[in-house]
Amino acid sequence: MICLSLTGKTIAENLRAISRYAFCIDLVELRADFLLPTERPEVDRFPSAVPAGRDGYRLPAILTVRAPRDGGKWNEGEGERRHLLSHGLQGGGYAYVDLETWIAGEDESLRTAAAADGTAVIRSLHDFEGIPEGLAGFLGGDGVAAGEIPKAAVTPNGSADLVRFVEAVTAARAAGDSHPRIVVAMGSVGFPARVLAGRFGSLLTFCSPISHDEVSAAPGHIDPATMHDLYRYPEITEHTAVFGVVGNPVMHSRSPAYHNERFASDGLDAVYLPFEVDDPAAFVRLGELLPIQGFSVTIPHKQAVIPFLREVDESVSDAGACNTVVRDGLGWVGFNSDVTGFLEPLRDAVAAAGTVAGATPAGATPTGAAGLRGMRATVVGAGGAARAVVSALLREGVAVLLLNRTVERAERLRDEIATRLPAAAAVRVAPLDESSASLIAESGDIIVQTTSIGMEPDIDGDAIDFYRFSGSEIVYDIVYTPEETALLRRAAAAGCRTVSGRLMFERQADAQYQRYRQVVLLAR
Ligand code: NAP
Repeated sequence: MICLSLTGKTIAENLRAISRYAFCIDLVELRADFLLPTERPEVDRFPSAVPAGRDGYRLPAILTVRAPRDGGKWNEGEGERRHLLSHGLQGGGYAYVDLETWIAGEDESLRTAAAADGTAVIRSLHDFEGIPEGLAGFLGGDGVAAGEIPKAAVTPNGSADLVRFVEAVTAARAAGDSHPRIVVAMGSVGFPARVLAGRFGSLLTFCSPISHDEVSAAPGHIDPATMHDLYRYPEITEHTAVFGVVGNPVMHSRSPAYHNERFASDGLDAVYLPFEVDDPAAFVRLGELLPIQGFSVTIPHKQAVIPFLREVDESVSDAGACNTVVRDGLGWVGFNSDVTGFLEPLRDAVAAAGTVAGATPAGATPTGAAGLRGMRATVVGAGGAARAVVSALLREGVAVLLLNRTVERAERLRDEIATRLPAAAAVRVAPLDESSASLIAESGDIIVQTTSIGMEPDIDGDAIDFYRFSGSEIVYDIVYTPEETALLRRAAAAGCRTVSGRLMFERQADAQYQRYRQVVLLAR
């Protein structure tokens, strides 16, 4: 079930939020600690004002008044808090009331009022620091009165903590009892567990009505429409294949939107999640536990993941970086879709330039419409993406000039690639400043921009603003947000053919998706 946590200041605001999401939620939680004091008298009547959900029945409601020690906004005394809970229960309309573990034993009157009205008690435990010892036992009912629903909201601080969380909830499930429980892993590391809550035997997952003027009830909440439509929460079962993107940070990644939409349009039982990973070894353990069938890899783990792979293909061994991993019968196998994702749009641009000019672009030998052999390229930047770009160009027979702010890093990159591709020894390295303008003019059939300069929010940034285009260069900026960077605008105005990083993103994402799709189809 998807539960909408209501954090509005007024009942009317909360009712509007419910109406907005009624199509995709199963119940609501009134966080009465967020209400203005003048709204509190209405708390007992709230359940009868809640509109119907998609099945035509009134949505059930949870009553919660959270104190600051549990992440709540209640700023009056404990006596007043219990008074408000009691007042809410008088109305008799709540399906659940949330009572914390630390008031157990001294909340007799609240439990009696709840029992009289058929309101079930959720017994909640919060830990904003980590994963508490004894989590599995608590979820199994230790310290929880008969009939109460244990709820644990805890905070994995890193990948190893997320493994401990999954082990605890799995152990609680395996203990055999099927009584209801609620499990929540807070924060960005815990986010995948919110989407997989049903797999962990959780009665529900919490979401917030997030928009510009609304606040999330707890760290890691997303809006229910995204949970329902993008992650397809109601369809996730223990058979659903789990994929994801591994990075740090990763919550901004567009990959979950891309791959979940493709899985949905192909009607595949699979979900794709953002995994914020600080420890690749722990993530590999998580991959076995969940299990995970495949994952994309982004900054900063493209190299760190390689030792955990059973096999890598040539694109990984050439680039020394891996961005795509899938599981086969024996273990993990790695690929680098950045290589094909980068080359395909470039080949198209070279072919188109040749078609327009009626000749092979300057320097190239005529090896076919998409041939790059013999061309000269300037690669700007020497980070992780440049690794795949330089390797791909060298393999295609392109002579490379490598410019970077930190020249030593570019030299290291060249030397490292040369251990795998001897052609790299001929790569010329120079600083990224005006002293290199004449070198670019000599090596500028193709100019590939691979630094993060020009990426949102730095949208006016231009890494080679000191260079004047002749108009014959093919200029490729692999930054994909925005789609047209300041560099590409300037190059197009000078008459250059330009290639947007958006094309590279789409081609590499498609290449990844084809592998994930194959894994799901083979498992059918
Ligand atoms: P990275 O490993 O962090 O490397 C960053 C590069 O940018 C380094 O060469 C760094 O130079 C340079 N740089 C950063 N800020 C700079 C500044 N102010 N002045 C001069 N140089 C600067 O990052 P990455 O993984 O290579 O990613 C780089 C960009 O490529 C990002 O925008 C990313 O989104 C994009 N990308 C796009 C695709 C796609 O599919 N289109 C795929 C992968 C990456 P130093 O060495 O001197 O620090």
